Amino acid sequence: MSVGAKILPATEASIQLVVDVLQSGELVVLPTETVYGLAAIISDDAALGKIFEVKGRPLIDPLIVHVLDLSSLLDLVQIGDDLFNKIYRLVDAFCPGPLTFVLKKRKNVSDIITAGKKTVAIRMPAHAVFREVLRHSGPLAAPSANPFGYLSPTCAAHVSNSIGDKIPYILDGGICAIGLESTILDLSSKRFAILRPGAITAEMIEGVLNEKIIAYRPLVSADPSAPGMLKQHYSPRTRLRLFEQSPEKEIPFFQENHTPKIAILYLSREEAKSQKITDEGNFSVFWLSESGDLNDVAHNIFDWLQRLDNMSFDIIYCQIPQKMDIGIAIGDRLIRAAAKF
Ligand code: AMP
Ligand code: MG
Repeated sequence: MSVGAKILPATEASIQLVVDVLQSGELVVLPTETVYGLAAIISDDAALGKIFEVKGRPLIDPLIVHVLDLSSLLDLVQIGDDLFNKIYRLVDAFCPGPLTFVLKKRKNVSDIITAGKKTVAIRMPAHAVFREVLRHSGPLAAPSANPFGYLSPTCAAHVSNSIGDKIPYILDGGICAIGLESTILDLSSKRFAILRPGAITAEMIEGVLNEKIIAYRPLVSADPSAPGMLKQHYSPRTRLRLFEQSPEKEIPFFQENHTPKIAILYLSREEAKSQKITDEGNFSVFWLSESGDLNDVAHNIFDWLQRLDNMSFDIIYCQIPQKMDIGIAIGDRLIRAAAKF
């Protein structure tokens, strides 16, 4: 069901319109290669404040700034020559793309963006439509365009079904190619660290920098300074449980007088076909990809969880991938999504 927001096709006229809307201090939703973002211009504190209102996001959760290129990034941060060289190499290897840098901020970056921190998170999105908007609007703050704590949106319909009544426009750029939020790399301390895993892995970064970085360490407790790292995040409304190999052990014995509707979401079609539980009775079986390719799983995971969330299942069992490559980021999102149940 779509309400409120107008979904605009990605034409030149729409891009002009959303640039005007942004410059008038309103929010618009834009496509990126990771997930859809709820954007505001970074020089307007009132517009930035609206992001938190629309998402129901606590003000202590800082925003990511999106810029067109390295020179726009350098306008917002304070760095020495040595760090510049490293950033240059990372940008050369991975940007524009799904890699966010946390760096010491300059005074011109609003405290609303950084939640009062001395650092700012910045990335260069690769999506051609977002880049065209940036070319005319200047840097934009844009968190994922979902209500705080809910699954991230990977197509215009996800946005219109959740915050569609709170925003005027969604610029439709198709289905997000990657489907998971960016990797966040903290470059503000001596030892670099992954704060959020994504498509760009620690190994890929180490390969470019030729030095060890602190790999992502899942937090067990809630750290209020980085709520994207809260234990529970990205959750469906429907109860979600995870399994590694087969779901049977996880499925509890139910009372005869209540037969729950159960969805099982496997990583691949082959996996789904080789398992004992099949698509019958109170079980419905789905798969996240044809072949089990983890990039396809990442691409589809938020969409499948949102679809199943709207199908009145009592519980969803989802298979969690191995902790390698982008599987680390997929596993991270799933563990958080299941944490509240
Ligand atoms: P979202 O854009 O909704 O995917 O969330 C942005 C993420 O970036 C959140 O998890 C923030 O905690 C994180 N973030 C933004 N700025 C900073 C910063 N200065 N230091 C650490 N994490 C940050
Ligand atoms: Mg988010």
